Amino acid sequence: MKNTVVLISLGGTIASLPDSSGRAIAGALSGKELMDTLKIESDGPVEVITLVKKPSNAITTANLLQLRALCLELSERPEVAGLVVSQGTDTLEDTAYFLDTTLALADTALVVTGAQRVPYAPGSDAGPNLRDAIKVANAAEARGAGTVVVFNEEIHAASCVRKVSSYQLNGFGSPGVGPLGFVDGDEVRLNHRLKRPSTITPGEQLPRVDILPVAIDASPALLEASVASGAQGLVIDAIGRGHIPPSWVEPLRAAINAGVPVAVTSSTHWGRVAEVYEYQGSLAEQVSLGALKATHLNARKARLRLMCALSGNQPIDQSLFA
Ligand code: ASP
Repeated sequence: MKNTVVLISLGGTIASLPDSSGRAIAGALSGKELMDTLKIESDGPVEVITLVKKPSNAITTANLLQLRALCLELSERPEVAGLVVSQGTDTLEDTAYFLDTTLALADTALVVTGAQRVPYAPGSDAGPNLRDAIKVANAAEARGAGTVVVFNEEIHAASCVRKVSSYQLNGFGSPGVGPLGFVDGDEVRLNHRLKRPSTITPGEQLPRVDILPVAIDASPALLEASVASGAQGLVIDAIGRGHIPPSWVEPLRAAINAGVPVAVTSSTHWGRVAEVYEYQGSLAEQVSLGALKATHLNARKARLRLMCALSGNQPIDQSLFA
């Protein structure tokens, strides 16, 4: 019978203790201390693993690969209904998308959660979010739904979710799409499932891929510096439908000609990049030079997908973002 949930704790605000400065030490609590502090009750057994105790700005790609291997191993146990990963909210969407893009898990739920307020603050969301995440991980309808983020009583798809507030309890949203479902007390409601991209098996190390943000009249110097200093791939976080300043076109051509794959994303909150304009710096021009369109993904997610594909020696072409 599938009734066991495994919590994998990585740290973050949800696992904080207060410092004498009055500020929080994110990741000070282990997973077991977190469960004990929050007095979480669950319908079935909950096992706890502490993978790292970090604020989420310090989580590395090596940690992500370890986490993936652990999730894969745990998902092979027949009694495990689902997995909950708890971590800091700052990079929560990266972890969730990395797991989603690298793990199919047909019969195991995979839930990522965290908290905006430290567990010892009045009105903290640490307990409610963890309790709801465990509930979703135990729900039959969440199995095979891909990696989801459970936060503030909402269930979000890892492929769309973003941290949308630096402090409010409704800290996560899926702009343009909305949540996949909700948690309402005992009820877990998954209203729909998103079409999932093919999963990628990553290699032993993720290579460096840089994100380059576009702004009005932004200098192309960062693009040139990225290539010169050894980036293995680039994500251009472009404006609108996927545009760059005219001054970026020649450095972009040079990067692609040097064999560095480049994916283009839209820095808007919603909508795919598309070749609808014809001018210098348009997406059509970048594609003609060999840039890839990362369609609906935002820059952080496209970066992880490109890193995984490069590490796994997958073909780097437009099918990566189909
Ligand atoms: N700075 C914290 C972290 O990412 C934020 C949080 O957990 O909410 O670890």
